[in-house]
Order: sequence, then structure tokens, then C-alpha cells
Amino acid sequence: MSTEQRRRHHVVIIGSGFGGLFAARALAKADVDVTLIAKTGQHLFQPLLYQVATGILSTGEIAPATREVLKGQDNTQVHLGEVTHIDLANKDVHYRLLDKRMVMNYDSLIVAAGAGQSYFGNDHFARYAPGMKSIDDALELRGRIFGAFEYAELCSDPEQLEQLTTFVVVGAGPTGVEMAGQIAELAYRALPNEFHNIDTRKAKIVLLDGAPAVLGSFGDRLSAKAHKQLTDMGVIVQLNSKVVDVNADGIEVERADGSRYFLPSATKIWAAGVQASPLGADLAAQCDTEVDRAGRIKVNEDLTLPGHPEVFVVGDMISLNNLPGVAQVAIQGGRHAAKTIKKRTHQGRWSDDPAAPFVYHDKGSMATISRFQAIASIGKIRLAGFVAWLMWLVVHLFYIIGFKKRLTTLLHWAVSFIGRGRSERASTVQQVIGRAAIEDIGADFNPLRGPQDAAELSGYPSDISGAPRAAQAAPNQTASDQTASDEPVPAQPQLAKPHLK
Ligand SMILES: Cc1cc2nc3c(=O)[nH]c(=O)nc-3n(C[C@H](O)[C@H](O)[C@H](O)COP(=O)(O)OP(=O)(O)OC[C@H]3O[C@@H](n4cnc5c(N)ncnc54)[C@H](O)[C@@H]3O)c2cc1C
Repeated sequence: MSTEQRRRHHVVIIGSGFGGLFAARALAKADVDVTLIAKTGQHLFQPLLYQVATGILSTGEIAPATREVLKGQDNTQVHLGEVTHIDLANKDVHYRLLDKRMVMNYDSLIVAAGAGQSYFGNDHFARYAPGMKSIDDALELRGRIFGAFEYAELCSDPEQLEQLTTFVVVGAGPTGVEMAGQIAELAYRALPNEFHNIDTRKAKIVLLDGAPAVLGSFGDRLSAKAHKQLTDMGVIVQLNSKVVDVNADGIEVERADGSRYFLPSATKIWAAGVQASPLGADLAAQCDTEVDRAGRIKVNEDLTLPGHPEVFVVGDMISLNNLPGVAQVAIQGGRHAAKTIKKRTHQGRWSDDPAAPFVYHDKGSMATISRFQAIASIGKIRLAGFVAWLMWLVVHLFYIIGFKKRLTTLLHWAVSFIGRGRSERASTVQQVIGRAAIEDIGADFNPLRGPQDAAELSGYPSDISGAPRAAQAAPNQTASDQTASDEPVPAQPQLAKPHLK
């Protein structure tokens, strides 16, 4: 038997979110080698981030390790690293982990790097109003929300007390509504018996939006129901209200008539806009397409890039036929890309068959408002209340990965929704201050090296993420340090589990 290794078609996937993970799973039995590169080591179930922020779920329940999820797939490797550049001409992906830089060559590429928070050009708002996009965000918010009540317990000044117990959520889409609803449940139902000096039932939860409706995309009837459910539970809904400034003390708001007022608040949460990964602009600069205002790249009907049938972009990064930025678009897009690659690599041979266009099957949308209250829009069916909430529960449970995680999630839901408990509220000072501290210290700071080396490594050309590219060895580096900061090293292709013939 020949031991010669046959080099298989190599698929690189960027991102371990819905698009990336479902593409990788769909390639499990394919005659290809797969490398999934993501800047986080987990598959994050973003729709339940707000439950981590409000002490219902633990991070492990909504973010299983990608490596663990894919461990049964012999043809798949997982690399932790942030992709800084994709070289379409050479079919190379450049990525880094701390100061280690690598290059990975691909035959086919699936880019599913998602989107981040957008502050619509006011990035300085971020310091005082964190978004809700990552585990870091959710833990920071958890610390800020529970911390505000702790601070209030020690406070005797009425003005400061009001500021500490006023929570402002910006953005009345599903994320903002879910967040406002859960903070209201926390303040009015879960915490009242735990504090001695303050009455948490007097907390103010304000939901702000520049638009005229709550959950406007669900249509007038469901939007009105959601609005009523929110106000019934004590949330103050302020529509047609635009945020014009945010600082440590509160938020400045402009009404539709142009008048402005200042809303004192210690805890502000930004759930108002998204900006696609900068990798979209990196790709668009190298082929005949463009990105829209939200940074989403325009793709062909089959999800490939013009002139590059081997490159697929899926999920929140794409602009195609007004598809929404929801999990199902990413899941179905990832599967479509995988199916096309499987078809083209049939029996070990690459064929240039044209790909079928991507057809999105809309399975409907849902949003919860509080325990037992949700709205759902599925085809022509419109539901509000308990039945919609039950459907929401079943669907979300279905997409949580792993039997054990489903079980513990169900237990936590029972504790919080039938009981009043919030059992997952551990938070640390580092979680609250870490983001601002990293911002101040600079993105190039490497905790494994220290500030002196970071300063010496700065001043080199930046790649798209603002990080130094191909830094030279600093004088005090050891030989092994040098390897880490030299020219990007070609990463080993996918033959760790060789395919023999
Ligand atoms: C708070 C919140 C609530 C939501 N609720 C719902 C809901 O109820 N229903 C619904 O359908 N949708 C919901 N969504 C939207 C849904 O989560 C997204 O549409 C979906 O996650 C998009 O999948 P994706 O694969 O495109 O991106 P993501 O899931 O965001 O995954 C992106 C991946 O790329 C990685 N990555 C990013 N940049 C790089 C880089 N440079 N290098 C390497 N890796 C990188 C990330 O680490 C991540 O693994 C919600 C989103 C949020 C934030």
C-alpha cells in the first residue's frame, strides 16, 4: 500500500459563529480537509447573551468550545487566531495569535466573520455604553448592572441614587427589548428582597429608540403588543428619541421636535446598530464589488465573490437581496457554501460547475419581552403572549449545542422564570474595567511580554486591525521570541490526520 499522502482540497473557514460552525459541520463527511480559524475559541449563541448579562445563564451554556463541538470530525482542525488580511490573488489567509503571525493557504474559503457593534460614527459612546456582541460584553454588563445596585445600596444622596438605579437601553430591536425586559424582571421581581437600604422596585428602566415603534420589523400589531407588554411591566419606552451624546453621568437625548434633555444614568447599554467585519472591506478592495454603509459586502447570488468562485461570504457580513442579519441566514448560507464545495470536489476531483443560487427559507422571527411573554411571526401566523414564549423556548433550546448544556439551561430557566433566582451573577472588577483598560493601554499590548516590548514593537506598518505587521525582533528578545514576531510563518496545511491512498 502506498503511504504517499494525497493532498486533499483544503477549505478554510473564518469564524466559529452560526455561519462558520454550520459550514464546518456540513463538511464533516466531505472528501476535503477543513481548517476553521476564529478569534474566539467558542461558538457563541448570541441570541442568549442578554441572559448571561442579567445573571440567568452561565457563559458555558451559550458558548461551548468550538474544538469540543468539532472533535469528532477527523477532517477538521480548529485554529485560534484573528484574521488580519485575506490575499485573494495568492489564496492566503493571514492571521495572528498575540504576536504570532501565520499564513494559511486555501483552495476554497468560507468567510463568516459576522458583525460588531456600530455607534454610527460616535465610537466614543462605547466607553460608557457597552454593546452586546460578545461574552466580554455580556460579563461587563453583568458587572455594571449588579454593581449599580451594590453602589446604590451604599449611597445616601438622592440624586446619585436616582442615577445609579436608572438603566437606559438604546435600541428597541429584539436585543434592546429583551435586555430592557430582563433588567425590569431583575429589579422588580428577583432582587427586591435582597437589599436593605434601597427598594429595587423603584429602579427606572428606559428603552430609547429614534424609530417610532418598538420591534418595528414585526409589523404594527405585534409591535403594539410588545410595547404594551413592556409598559405593563414598568419599562419606560421613549420612541422618536435620538441619542446625541453619552458620558459617564448619563445620556443626552433629542426629541423629534429638536428639543433636548439629559437623562442621568450610570448604566447605559447600546443595542442600536451593527457594523460588518472589516474583512468585508478588505475583500471588496481586491475584487469587483463594494461594501454598503454597514460594511456588508455585496456578493453574487451563489454567495461567492465576483471573479472568485472559490470564495464564499456568509451570514452577517453580506449584502444580498435585503436578507436580514439573523442566525438562519448565516446557518443556511454556511450550509449552502459547504454543499457547493462538496458538489465541486466530488470523488476527489475539483470541477468548475457553476454554483446554484442561495435560496433563503424564512422560518420566521421571535422576540421575548419577559418570562412567559414573547411575540412570534411565522409565515402568516402572528402570535403574542405565552404560546409565543413557549415556541421561543423550544426553538432556542433546539439550537443550544449539546445535551448537557440544554439540560442545565432548562434548569436555569426554571430557577429564574418559575422561581425568582439569578444564580449566574458572579462578576469581577477585571470584567468591568478590562475593556477600557485595554483601550487605554493600546491594542498592541501583549500580556505575555509586558509594556516595554509592546512599545518596542509599535511603529511598524499596520494591517487592517491596526496591529503591527511583520515586526522585527526587538533587541532583548530571545531566539524563541524572535520566531513569534518574525515574518508570518506558513501554517501547516491540513495533514495532521493524513489521508492515505
Ligand atoms: C445580542 C444579540 C441577539 C440576537 N438575537 C437573535 C435572535 O433572537 N434570532 C436571530 O435569528 N438572530 C439573532 N441575532 C443575530 C445572530 O446572532 C447573527 O445574525 C448571527 O450570529 C450571524 O452569524 P455569523 O456567523 O455571520 O456571525 P457570528 O455568529 O457573529 O460569528 C462571527 C465569528 O467570526 C469570528 N471572527 C470575527 N472576526 C474575526 C477575525 N477577524 N478573525 C477570525 N475570526 C473572526 C468571531 O469570533 C465569531 O466566531 C442576535 C445577535 C445579537 C448580537
